[in-house]
Amino acid sequence: MSDRRRFLAGSAAALGAAAVTQLPLATSSYASAQPTLPDGLFTLGVASGDPLPDAVVLWTRLAPDPLHGGGMPDAPVAVEWQVATDQHFRRIVRHGIAQALPAYGHSVHADARGLEAGREYWYRFRVGGQISPAGRTHTAPHPHSSGGSLRIALASCQNWQNGFFTPYADMKAQNPDLVLFVGDYIYESAPAAGSVRVHEGAGEPYTLEQYRNRYAQYRTDPDLQAMHAHAPWVVTFDDHEVDNDWAGEVPQDPAKQTHEAFLTRLTAAFQAYYEHMPVRATAIPDGPHIQMYRRFDYGRLIRLNVLDTRQFRSDQATTQAGAQDPVMTMLGAEQKDWLLRGLNRSPARWNVIASQIMMAETDIQQGEGKLWFYDAWDGYQTERNALLAELGAVRNPLVLSGDRHLTMISDLKKDFGNPASAVVGAEFVGTSISSNGDQDLAAFDAYWNPLRADNPHWKFIDAHRGYHLFDIGRQSVQAQVRAVSTVLKPTATASTLARLRVESDRPGVRLLG
Ligand code: FE
Ligand code: CA
Repeated sequence: MSDRRRFLAGSAAALGAAAVTQLPLATSSYASAQPTLPDGLFTLGVASGDPLPDAVVLWTRLAPDPLHGGGMPDAPVAVEWQVATDQHFRRIVRHGIAQALPAYGHSVHADARGLEAGREYWYRFRVGGQISPAGRTHTAPHPHSSGGSLRIALASCQNWQNGFFTPYADMKAQNPDLVLFVGDYIYESAPAAGSVRVHEGAGEPYTLEQYRNRYAQYRTDPDLQAMHAHAPWVVTFDDHEVDNDWAGEVPQDPAKQTHEAFLTRLTAAFQAYYEHMPVRATAIPDGPHIQMYRRFDYGRLIRLNVLDTRQFRSDQATTQAGAQDPVMTMLGAEQKDWLLRGLNRSPARWNVIASQIMMAETDIQQGEGKLWFYDAWDGYQTERNALLAELGAVRNPLVLSGDRHLTMISDLKKDFGNPASAVVGAEFVGTSISSNGDQDLAAFDAYWNPLRADNPHWKFIDAHRGYHLFDIGRQSVQAQVRAVSTVLKPTATASTLARLRVESDRPGVRLLG
């Protein structure tokens, strides 16, 4: 049976004879209006994301020549999508047509609605005779449900040039319900000869086509593609999706580009980001702005607040005094209000904050006095400390972060300046998928061990590549630090380096071993 016939057969069998006339894929008029398309449209795979109790976003991008602009004709293409309750697509419960437009790089974002809460689905796309690989996804539980459990994988920082994305092969085997990705999905750095894998292009991306090619290259990674097809993702970006350490409308090197030029770069970077992520239409960029902070409720078990710690922040401080200046903001007034409202009125047992960058203090000055990294929350002391004070009144706050390329698991203290102050929550800083390559344990120990006394809130720190896995139930969060043996080869073995637990209504995190 041809792929096309199989696709049709599955649909008709599921819906019965009466429903066949409603099938858009059966109408030849629309099919004949399609431009002639090259083979191999689905080189970038499929993805799903931003699950709601009744909906999930289904993604693909038609790109027969992914590293050179995509290779599609300059015309809209109608793409059929199907959602089934079984992996053989015998029971198709939703279907429709989405337009893949040249203006959006022929990406497809189908917001499949009318689904049942808290269940598994399979989805796929078809264009002409070409059928995509099938993806598996999962809706969020019913808003009133209070039981159950959720397995979340926390990932960040996947530098193509530093290694293969081997942690995703293990993540898939661990079968999470949701992947939370907190930034550095691509790196904007120029191709570097001698890397494990070399970036496409001739330099850093600036234009839309250059960013598209960079995302497309990352999406060709087989482990990343398989993980996208295996579970829904909730994503946010950090700095490298645009430019290292950018803040608001300020680039890394303001002296090297005009404000106008950086706005043009932000516009291109955000558009390519939207095109490649399984996010809702609310994230369609408006020039150099994109709406990415948003909230997901998993029944009454989890409220997930996804932050944007780049677009609204003040430019980084350069001194300890600057980091303590009350004018410094990380979230901007609007997002801060939105976050506090969502925390204070939350019905959830666990209040998760997905923050790109680390919230707990990192004091990098041995002994007397403190020295902070100014790009992290430490560089925005007044706002961070006010937020920590608020967390004291929030049920079970749990901060999940990235950026550091290290595992750092800490108690969150009401006041890091006072070691006797209350513990208000826990933070897990996921390591990196591949950034920094394989760990140098001797260098890690030499730098960080002397700083342990300065950072008594640390419960576990480590330099291996991998990700964190959380089993969230009503009584506790069981966490595992999953590490791979290497990212310098396409395959690796994986193991649990540490197990930790957070008990409900007992602030702080405990290392189990
Ligand atoms: Fe990173
Ligand atoms: Ca110190």
